[in-house]
Amino acid sequence: MKKSRRILMLVLALVMVFTVVAVPASAAETLPADEPVTIEPRAEACSCGGSYINVTEWGSWYFTGSTQPCTHGYRFGDDKIYRRDGIRYKRCNRCGEGWMTGTTYQTDTYGPNGEYCFGHN
Ligand SMILES: [Zn+2]
Ligand SMILES: [Zn+2]
Repeated sequence: MKKSRRILMLVLALVMVFTVVAVPASAAETLPADEPVTIEPRAEACSCGGSYINVTEWGSWYFTGSTQPCTHGYRFGDDKIYRRDGIRYKRCNRCGEGWMTGTTYQTDTYGPNGEYCFGHN
């Protein structure tokens, strides 16, 4: 009884030693220092000879349904928050070939001629 328990302890100790040794060894195997890093091809030049530029195509301004306190120097009044959504592209400046890279948006609480501003004193 006593002997088998001692063997069990020995086995446990050995397992712990092997676990401690095995972790850094396997980590080194999965992360070789000289593994090439994958880099997305940047493709700044188009095959037609043109070059890709960032372009944003904007939609129309629309009222979001929200307002916020005027930020144009008036003491009172809430401005209407307008918004327009844009789609961003990389597009060749020569042949027009390209691809979508993301979306973006802008907000405005003033408008071209102050139409969205409802501030007053
Ligand atoms: Zn305002
Ligand atoms: Zn092109």
